Amino acid sequence: MILIVDDTPENLISLKKVLEKNNFEVDTASSGEEALKKVLKNAYVLIILDVQMPGMDGFEVAEAISGYSKAKETAIIFLSAANTELKFIAKGYSSGGLDYITKPVEMNILLLKVKTFYHIYEQSRKLKEMQDSLLAEIEFRKEAERKKDEFISIASHELKTPLTSVKGYIQLLERSIQKGDNETVRKHLAKAQAQLDKLNSLIADLLDISKIESGKLKFNKQNFTVDTLLDNVIEIMNQSNPSFKIIRKGKADCEIFADEMRIEQVIVNFLTNAIKYSPGTTEIVITVHLKNEKLYVAVKDLGIGMLPEQLEHVFEKFYRVEETSQRFQGLGIGLYISSEIIKRHGGEIGVNSTYGQGSEFYFITPINLQTEE
Ligand code: ADP
Repeated sequence: MILIVDDTPENLISLKKVLEKNNFEVDTASSGEEALKKVLKNAYVLIILDVQMPGMDGFEVAEAISGYSKAKETAIIFLSAANTELKFIAKGYSSGGLDYITKPVEMNILLLKVKTFYHIYEQSRKLKEMQDSLLAEIEFRKEAERKKDEFISIASHELKTPLTSVKGYIQLLERSIQKGDNETVRKHLAKAQAQLDKLNSLIADLLDISKIESGKLKFNKQNFTVDTLLDNVIEIMNQSNPSFKIIRKGKADCEIFADEMRIEQVIVNFLTNAIKYSPGTTEIVITVHLKNEKLYVAVKDLGIGMLPEQLEHVFEKFYRVEETSQRFQGLGIGLYISSEIIKRHGGEIGVNSTYGQGSEFYFITPINLQTEE
């Protein structure tokens, strides 16, 4: 917007008319004091300022404006009676642009100058926008880099832990074999096996992440029965976590067209998290039902729960709740992979949780049955 400051009403009106005819938005002030008030309130691209005014003259107005942060980028065109007055112009006014026109105003020249200032203003606004978006991009990349570094360090640690255990069990096994103690051999073997399973699933998750990144996560979709899958998963989870009781509610006695192993992976991820993040509790409830050709599966625990601002991020890559990340091992990728799997099945994943009381993770996915022709 342009502000015209002139104490002669005829000048104000005629300038305003010409500028508005040329599609500029115009505001007016009939004294220096009024102009200052307006500059404090509004942002102007350009001020056309009459030098000779009673009260505050044009130079004094310019000098005062130079101190306003709001008018930092504002340019000024002085309307002066004679060139000699212009030696005062630069005084105290360093930013924005400055120019002058002698009176009587030659409208074409004024318009040319106004257009030039607008052009410069537009260009510097675009430059500033570009600079801002570049700075935001740099910040985003720095943060991503930091998260990746942190992830590499956690991942190495997570991989090393089961590996060190396996090494330990193998040493123990050697001794037990030498002693001919078969019972202990069996125990150590089972423990080494459990650690290897852990290692295997960690590496599988890492591979999934790189497949997702490169768009190579493939699905092998077939018709399968949901209830059978659930029975198997619950049985295995109950066996490997004897201190927890996984209770099933509801039925989904139907087939679904999906990647069975991937759907199982999501349910196992929900259950493993429910167990991991619920120390001191013993019950997990898995609810399943069918509605409108959609399968609903939810896993509810009575564990540590999460705060609303943490819930927003749980499905993001590498996200772990900071406060509890030291207490529980993990890579912060399980839920990200789960959400990719569900989304790629055309479904929806979500969570409800209350801090200190527990969480419920769920997914809803269309059954999309493929019928043979
Ligand atoms: P990980 O468990 O390996 O850290 P996930 O992607 O499975 O990674 O989970 C991301 C984060 O979400 C976890 O670090 C944890 O802070 C939070 N979270 C996941 N499941 C639960 C749950 N059932 N209860 C409370 N917090 C959970």
